Amino acid sequence: MGTIVITGSAGGIGLATRERLVRDGHEVIGVDIRDAEVIADLSTPEGRNAMIGAVATASGGRIDGLVAGAGITGPDPRQVVSINYFGAVATVEGLRPLLAQGTDSSAIAISSNSSTTLAELPDGLVEACLGDDEGQARELAGADPSTAYATSKLALARWVRRTAIGTDWIGSGIRLNGVAPGLIDTPLVAENLDMIMNLGDVYPIPIGRPGRAAEVANLLAFLLSPDASLFCGSVVFMDGGSDAALNADAWPAVNTTAERWPIGD
Ligand code: NAD
Repeated sequence: MGTIVITGSAGGIGLATRERLVRDGHEVIGVDIRDAEVIADLSTPEGRNAMIGAVATASGGRIDGLVAGAGITGPDPRQVVSINYFGAVATVEGLRPLLAQGTDSSAIAISSNSSTTLAELPDGLVEACLGDDEGQARELAGADPSTAYATSKLALARWVRRTAIGTDWIGSGIRLNGVAPGLIDTPLVAENLDMIMNLGDVYPIPIGRPGRAAEVANLLAFLLSPDASLFCGSVVFMDGGSDAALNADAWPAVNTTAERWPIGD
C-alpha cells in the first residue's frame, strides 16, 4: 500500500480513482481547487509551486504514485493549455523528487483520445507546449479556441513519451505513462454528452455508450500497481473503439526514421 497523489481529485475520474485507491488500502492526497487535502490552482506557476510544497509537507517527502488528472475543456482556451499541459507537466516534474523516495513509483498523466480523433491539430501549439513556452502557447490557443483542448492533450501525450525514457524517470526506476480516455460520463462533458453520443461517423463510439469514471479508475489503479512494471512511455487509449474506428491504420505505423536492426542481413 502506498501514498498516491491525484490532481483533479474532486471531479469525475479523479474522484472515482480516489475511491478505488482508498478501497484498495492506499493513502490518497487529493489536489484540486475544491474539496481536497491540498487546495491549489494549477493554472498558474504560483499555484503549481504552492501545490508542490503542500504535497511535500502532507506526504512527509515521499509518495509512491501520482495521477495528473486536473483538466478543463473551456471556456477560456488559454486556461485550457495552462491547466491541461503546463499544469500537468509542472505537477509531474515537481513531484518527481517525492516519487524518487517511493517504492515501485509510478506516475500517470491523463491525456485524451481527442489527441488523435480530432483532425488537423495545429503543430505550432504542440511545439510551443513541448518547447515550454507557456506565453506563446496561450497566445496560439487564444487564436484557435476549438483545437486548444485536443492539442493540449496531444502535447501532453508526446511529453510523456519523450520524458518517460530518460534517466530521471525509468532510469531512476520511476514509471511514467499516459492514459487517453474517450468520452467518459463526468461533469466535464455533462452538457455535451448527448450531442457527442450522436455525432455518428464524425465521432463513432463502437461500444455504443459513454465510458464510466470507474472504468478509467480501474486502468489507473493497474498502471499505478507493480503489476504494470513493464509499462514505460505508453499512452493507453481506452475509448470504446473510437480511435480504432477513425484511425485503425495510423498506428502501429511503419517506422521511417530508425535504423534497421542488423538481423537477417
Ligand atoms: P471533471 O471536470 O469531472 O474533473 C476535473 C477536476 O479538475 C475537477 O475536480 C476540477 O475542480 C479540477 N480542476 C479544474 N481546474 C483546476 C485547476 N486550475 N487546478 C486544480 N484542479 C482543477 O473532469 P473529468 O472528466 O473527471 O476529467 C479528468 C481528466 O480526464 C481531465 O484531464 C480531462 O481532460 C480528462 N479526460 C476526460 C474525458 C471525459 O470525457 N470526461 C475524456 C478524456 C480525457
